[in-house]
Amino acid sequence: MPFAAAKRLQKLPPYIFLEIDRLKKETLARGIKVLDFGVGDPDVETPRPIVAEMKRAVARPENHRYPLGPGKAALRQAFTDFYAEKFGVKLDPADEVTTLIGAKEGVAHMALAFVNPGDTVLMPDPAYPVYYNGTVFAGGVPYFIPMTRKTNYEMDLDSVPKQVLRRAKLLWINFPHSPTGTCVTKEFFRMVVWHARKYKFAVCHDAAYIDLTYDGYQAPSFLSVPGAKEVGCELYSLSKPFNMTGWRIGVCAGNTDLVAGLRKIKGNLDSGQFGAVQDAAVVALRNHDKFISKMVKTYTLRRDLMVDALTEAGFRVNRPKGTIYLWAECPRGKKSMETSAALLREYGILATPGVGLGLKHGEGHLRFSLTCPTAHCEEAAKRLKRGGM
Ligand SMILES: *Cc1c(COP(=O)(O)O)cnc(C)c1O
Repeated sequence: MPFAAAKRLQKLPPYIFLEIDRLKKETLARGIKVLDFGVGDPDVETPRPIVAEMKRAVARPENHRYPLGPGKAALRQAFTDFYAEKFGVKLDPADEVTTLIGAKEGVAHMALAFVNPGDTVLMPDPAYPVYYNGTVFAGGVPYFIPMTRKTNYEMDLDSVPKQVLRRAKLLWINFPHSPTGTCVTKEFFRMVVWHARKYKFAVCHDAAYIDLTYDGYQAPSFLSVPGAKEVGCELYSLSKPFNMTGWRIGVCAGNTDLVAGLRKIKGNLDSGQFGAVQDAAVVALRNHDKFISKMVKTYTLRRDLMVDALTEAGFRVNRPKGTIYLWAECPRGKKSMETSAALLREYGILATPGVGLGLKHGEGHLRFSLTCPTAHCEEAAKRLKRGGM
């Protein structure tokens, strides 16, 4: 018996990654070693002390029961201390912090908690796809703010018509921004707070890459500007900075109404993350500097290798001060799918076509994820220089 999926599933954009996977298999079948810059999933293992704590925590009977809704007090406190130390942000762990089963879960559930059918949700484009997915699942209407070469890859709120701002319920921002690598100063966040107050919408800042920054740049927390907590919240993820994508752990912090709404949805749909993972996350946050600075060094090296090689090969690409991505404009105005296929065929290099990352404005670009081993970055640079494999 055929079961028709719910209409909300039909609103999702076509999934291009199956086609990419097919091309990858084809290349491998030709006996070519594929250098994979496709997925944004760290290749380096989780730091050993975090794994060690997980092993101990699994054995503790207290972790064998349902986790508590907002997350363990010890984890909320560790996060609060981390944010005070690193970003100068004061938080109350009692009602301004809640743990997540990864930031992705928080993004999706935030929409369920605050978006009514027909509500307008502002979001960057290209962007992390879940702002869109979560919005349409909740029946909301996405409005895309372009981040293209024309806007210098920046997010220009003043480009949004006033009537759209007036009916907006929620704004998604994400800096350092995936996939463009664009970073902002506190001045930008102040301007966002000003708009949110004037037009009365909530701001959700996805800070997945807030501590993967380079060349001495430190990304600010949205919550560090005056008034931010009155209008918004920030989603933090341990996935990328601590190489913990598989563990599923993140935090939402900020405005008490937003945190309470999210807690309510989560209390009814999930029961929080396994206590042992939360214990391990405490070890990560309490040693953040040591773990993260190592990854920053690794990504800086890879970034520089790849930016130089791609530039020489005819791509127009910025040297980002944050994220783990390069957002490269295809040479000669070529389409992204075509360029991606050619790069794979001729160089054995796999990059994600921009059409898969932007609903309207991702075309003409490729995303290179720096989660590819450094030796593979060196090999990719060599192949590009040689003009083939
Ligand atoms: C990886 C990523 C996330 C999701 O993080 P998880 O904590 O693993 O769910 C959210 N936003 C952006 C921009 C990301 O790149």
